[in-house]
Amino acid sequence: MTADVSTVAETAFEAVIGLEVHVQLLTTTKIFCSCSARFGAAPNTNVCPVCLGMPGALPVLNRKAVEFAALAAMALKCSIRETSVFARKNYFYPDLPKGYQISQYDKPLAEHGFIEVPAAGGMHKRIGITRVHLEEDAGKSLHEGFAGAADKTAIDLNRTGVPLIEIVSEPDISTPDEAYEYLTRLKEIILYTGVSDCNMEEGSLRCDANVSVRPRGQKELGTKAEVKNVNSFRFIREALEYEISRQIEIIESGGKVVQETRLYNSAEGKTYSMRSKEQAHDYRYFPEPDLLPVVLDEKRLGEIAKSLPELPDERRDRMVKDYGITEYDAQVLTSSKLLADRFESAAKAAKNPKRVANLVQSELMGRLKTKRIEIEQSPVSMEGVAASADLVESGTISGKMLKDLYDLAFERGKDFPAVYEEEGRPQQSSDSSSLEKIIDEVLAASPKQLEQYRGGKTTMIGFFVGQVMKASKGQANPQVVNELLAKKLG
Ligand SMILES: [Zn+2]
Repeated sequence: MTADVSTVAETAFEAVIGLEVHVQLLTTTKIFCSCSARFGAAPNTNVCPVCLGMPGALPVLNRKAVEFAALAAMALKCSIRETSVFARKNYFYPDLPKGYQISQYDKPLAEHGFIEVPAAGGMHKRIGITRVHLEEDAGKSLHEGFAGAADKTAIDLNRTGVPLIEIVSEPDISTPDEAYEYLTRLKEIILYTGVSDCNMEEGSLRCDANVSVRPRGQKELGTKAEVKNVNSFRFIREALEYEISRQIEIIESGGKVVQETRLYNSAEGKTYSMRSKEQAHDYRYFPEPDLLPVVLDEKRLGEIAKSLPELPDERRDRMVKDYGITEYDAQVLTSSKLLADRFESAAKAAKNPKRVANLVQSELMGRLKTKRIEIEQSPVSMEGVAASADLVESGTISGKMLKDLYDLAFERGKDFPAVYEEEGRPQQSSDSSSLEKIIDEVLAASPKQLEQYRGGKTTMIGFFVGQVMKASKGQANPQVVNELLAKKLG
């Protein structure tokens, strides 16, 4: 019964997780030269003496990269240092032509931020952000996709000098799920600021995780392992789950966890030792002599702060208030800035914004869930929801007709206005003379029910309304039918 043993073991130990996230900034050019920073160019075409590390070439700091980094740091609730300093991080690696990386060390751009993640019981847990600093990316070693790849490694230096921010969390994360939530929120916030596309396939967002375990209640930290460059949040969660049980097993069987860097193999669901982990002193950091300190005074920060958008958490709170929607729906509707923008512009364009929000909840979300599709793939767009809301608002169609039209839209994979056209712009009938005729027919055809009604069974009125709706093929205005019936039955 190994499962039981591991459950016991996992409750006797707790994990301590810290995450280092590298985010590529969406500048047109690199951080210290005017080479293009675009992804996907032919290898070694976006290079120059500066990013190739030629002797005597001097770096010039990209103003936009600093602004983007500051914007991200503000969104992550960090305090931004008035004077931050670039430092050389020395190490020798084939994809690092200078022999050092320009980064920031003891005076990083920003510190002391946080991200809130959902916790048990509807509460929130605050995960601290130690620092946000600017640095340049290294090149890329290629092991496949070129002639001779079987016994050679090629190098593509297009990526050297591409601007990055590194976001380092405090070791506040206790579970793989929390790590997943933290990363999801982090990505969402960065996307809202627009400073990166956070595309993990293209390497614009990369994550390394430091993880250790210790007996529950022990103060000092266990020896940590670093899991490097896992390329999806789901894999990071899996890698952490594996790594936590691996370390617990080692300790339980009397062994010692070694400090090392490990790689995650997603096909096997296991991590493998790559190399022993460097310590900070191995890098021989010293201030970069070719660059001046970065000064961001209050005035400059004020300028930058002007382009800070409303952030997801604040937006959700406001939308709950403005539209009377649930927190869950606000969460879904703000999952991307584009979607939230579309929802809000549709809601505002409609005659009754609240009705748009209601229809999103009552007609859209449920159908998406049933179909197991995301809101981005919804056949009915936000504009479609707004159009349908207006049709109900003006009394043109009934709630029942609206539901039927949504069903058809999902069946046909078409937007609401298109289906409404295809169905010949149906309208509910509020015309009393034609409805009265139908009512008379229904009453004439149901003498038994009429007798019951007259005998005191007033709930029979529901039956008559149903019959009239049926006879009108769902196009009668139920409210008018009710009124007419009440009058007729006196
Ligand atoms: Zn260059």
